Amino acid sequence: MRLQSLVINGFKSFPKKTTLTFESPVVCVVGPNGSGKSNVVEAIRFVLGEQSMKSMRGKAGSDLIFKGSKSLPAGSRASVSIYLDNKDKVFKLTGDEGENIDLGFDTVSISREVYSDGVNRYSLNDSDVRLKDINNLLSSVNIGSSGHHIISQGEADRILNANSRERKEMVEDALGLKIYQYKIKEAERKLDRAGSNMQEVSMLRRENAPHLKFLEKQVEKIEKAKELAGELLSLYKEYLKKQSVYLETERANLSKEKSKVSAEILMLEKQISEAEEDGAPEEKNMAELSVLEKRVMDIRRLRGELERKIGRVEGMMDAEKERARRLAEKKVVAPEEAQFAFEKVETLVAEALSKESLVDIRPILERIKAVLEDLHRQPGAETNMASQIEALEKSRQEIFGEIEKIAQEEKSISEKTEILRAENREMMEAMRQKEKEKFGLKVRQQELHSALGMILVKEEGLKHQQDDFNEEIREGEPLVGTEIRSYKEFQFEGAIDHALQEETRKKIERIKIKLEDAGLSGGADIMTEYKDATERDVFLSRELEDLEKSMETLRSLIADLKEKIDVEFKEGVKKINNEFQKLFALMFGGGTAILKIIMEGKGRSREEEREEEDFEEEIVFEQGIEISVSLPQKKVKELHALSGGERSLTSIALLFAMSAVNPPPFLVLDETDAALDEANSRKYGDMLQILSKHSQLVVITHNRETMSRAGILYGVTIGSDGASKLLSVKFDEAVAIAK
Ligand code: ATP
Repeated sequence: MRLQSLVINGFKSFPKKTTLTFESPVVCVVGPNGSGKSNVVEAIRFVLGEQSMKSMRGKAGSDLIFKGSKSLPAGSRASVSIYLDNKDKVFKLTGDEGENIDLGFDTVSISREVYSDGVNRYSLNDSDVRLKDINNLLSSVNIGSSGHHIISQGEADRILNANSRERKEMVEDALGLKIYQYKIKEAERKLDRAGSNMQEVSMLRRENAPHLKFLEKQVEKIEKAKELAGELLSLYKEYLKKQSVYLETERANLSKEKSKVSAEILMLEKQISEAEEDGAPEEKNMAELSVLEKRVMDIRRLRGELERKIGRVEGMMDAEKERARRLAEKKVVAPEEAQFAFEKVETLVAEALSKESLVDIRPILERIKAVLEDLHRQPGAETNMASQIEALEKSRQEIFGEIEKIAQEEKSISEKTEILRAENREMMEAMRQKEKEKFGLKVRQQELHSALGMILVKEEGLKHQQDDFNEEIREGEPLVGTEIRSYKEFQFEGAIDHALQEETRKKIERIKIKLEDAGLSGGADIMTEYKDATERDVFLSRELEDLEKSMETLRSLIADLKEKIDVEFKEGVKKINNEFQKLFALMFGGGTAILKIIMEGKGRSREEEREEEDFEEEIVFEQGIEISVSLPQKKVKELHALSGGERSLTSIALLFAMSAVNPPPFLVLDETDAALDEANSRKYGDMLQILSKHSQLVVITHNRETMSRAGILYGVTIGSDGASKLLSVKFDEAVAIAK
């Protein structure tokens, strides 16, 4: 890496574009007081990102812009560009995420502009960049922000004036350890970021946790419910299948029974109506009977009349006979006559005895009386009387004949009636029998009707059971799903135990209640929500792990870097001491000079200890650097006791020692040689030549000896227009201009 050129435009006393090229290892800038030489140094500070206005002798950004003069107008912006050779590609730019950004340019150009309102603009090879990027880029080539490589006027002994900690920083910077510091800061920033990310993530996780827990419980319930639903389903399958088989069988049985009973009822109805159709014949007999009975009555009346007639006839005959008896009182009855009468009476008595009814006996008695009267008849009047009696007898016989006739008829009627009555009895018996049968049929019909009624009741019951069955499926489906309908495939053996069925139904009921109580509507939503929440939690915990890991990596990176800084710092200080001692001895012709690393105590109150009871100040030890010198033949050791020249020489020796150990790409020295006498100026010049082998030198000087070591000499003059002018000059001209 090499400084190529510097272009100043509108900066401080340079209103016009002014270019300095650095084609020699040592470039000297000379000129009278106030001509603008230091402005060149500040232009370099400015373009490299200097933020301290004080170190550029200004108060505000506008102080850096050409303020104008009587003859020239003020500028509105100041711009400085620096061109650096990058053929060896040493410049490195690190991105925000720590990645390397490839810089392919052979020449790196850095520009900075400031406007009157104080706004700054930085660019890298004409692209706008941030100050941070400039710092980042420069630290990669050992151009640190502490500015150890730019020594302003009167600042040569700055390192002597600084406190041990500042000194340490300068040494670190000179040793090129700033890049590590920068990396540590980056890592710490990242660590901070990761820490707050971690807090955020853990907060999210904590916030998530109750919901997740809630969901977990819900899911647990759902799982349990699923188990229950599974149990329910298998119970349902068995129960429903058995129930359906039962209902089917029951229905079939009932319908069979019903058709059987109905058929029987129909048959009975027919039988009953048939039975009711008979019963007419009884009336026909009854009519005939009544006619016959009437006739019997008539006959009896007629017989009565006839018998009374006989009585009268027999009376008349008796009277005749009495008269005849009285006539024949003296008459003896001849034996033959008596025999005849006796035999006749005997016959009649026998006849009478054969009769049952008095009515039948009476006429016989009348005849017996007539026979007996005959025995007493007088033979005298016999002829008359006999004819009278004979006539009466004749009519009596006729009446008897009539009676005989109607008795005959009565007998036949009575016989006929008897037959009819018997017939009637038989008929009645038959009818009773039929009635009995009909009654039996009706009883049976009644029985069948109530059986049918029972069947209907049973059917109704079955219908209800079927409704319950359907309702059960309807209720169960939302709980166990459509699979409930696969109960048909359930297989079982043996008979259906109703008590067992009832027990199963109760079990089903209990599970249903449990499931309904669990209230798991939207279970699927909860499952997906749980899944999402779990995934989120897992994601967050992984995030935490990743953060933890990256924090660990960062911590160890920081530790490594600190270790590296520590090691390199110690080694660097050792090397610097080596050079310092040599240069010091060279400058002073002997003596010793050494940098010492010290631990410096520094009081500081720790915020976190405020919470503790025994809060007290804690001493923090920090590393610092002390300079210890011993001049030859002098006992003075304290720095502040050195003369101005001695201080200057010591500073230069240290500065050069640092630059020798880790040569910066360039060194800008603004009148660092001001306090040197001739002899020391020569030694200074010698050292410049040694340093220039590794670092480019831009030297502002009034010293001839220094000028004589330069390859390029620039003269700066300022005219009445207040504008600095730059011109390349020869040594003699330079000597002249410098005065
Ligand atoms: P010395 O040899 O005395 O140190 P020098 O050559 O280093 O002098 P500088 O200090 O660089 O001179 O220049 C100072 C000059 O620059 C002063 O004349 C000052 O007026 C001028 N100057 C400083 N700032 C501005 C500005 N913003 N606009 C115009 N001129 C300015």
